[in-house]
Amino acid sequence: MFRTFIIIGFVIALASCGGGSRSGRSGIEQSAPAASSCQIAMQAHARDYRSASIGDGSSCKVEQPVSFSRSADLHFTPLLSTSCAMALAWFDFEPEVEALARETLGSGVAMVRHYGSFSCRRMTGNGRRMSLHASARALDIAGFTLDDGREISVKRDWRRGDAGRFLSAFANAACARFGVVLTPAHDRSHHDHIHIDIGPWKLCGT
Ligand SMILES: [Zn+2]
Repeated sequence: MFRTFIIIGFVIALASCGGGSRSGRSGIEQSAPAASSCQIAMQAHARDYRSASIGDGSSCKVEQPVSFSRSADLHFTPLLSTSCAMALAWFDFEPEVEALARETLGSGVAMVRHYGSFSCRRMTGNGRRMSLHASARALDIAGFTLDDGREISVKRDWRRGDAGRFLSAFANAACARFGVVLTPAHDRSHHDHIHIDIGPWKLCGT
């Protein structure tokens, strides 16, 4: 039973960066900006939050798209455009990331370098399903810059020294909070980033 679950999860996750997916659509139309609970939370967490225009509203619909480059404690580069739900999931996780960095590297995190959240595409391993990136419910993290100036690169540092230990700790902690987490340990398509998403499937590819 467990093995079956893993196999199913693996097949799903093969495509996550080409991505996981949700079947069906919400049918909820984007409306004019309103003070939704998500937007209120964004204003509390992101210093430069603003509504974004991502998603085409049909095959790649993003619910409550937002953009920001600064959270309470760190910067995102480039500007991160994502779904409000993905942003809030990150904000919940951020204090833990800071703590892990201080614990393993002796410095907090100043910047997250990423390859983006939204990409209107299908899964790479299952072309019938849309990627979770298509709804901006995923994020690909390329690395971090620490408060002391050190650069941590997924591509260069995975499983190397203290930086590698931090990246592994980051990925394992992400597994407890997110749906699918894929790292360089999972497959070659993730050799330079860690994929995290808030999709319906669970896989810890660390
Ligand atoms: Zn991804």
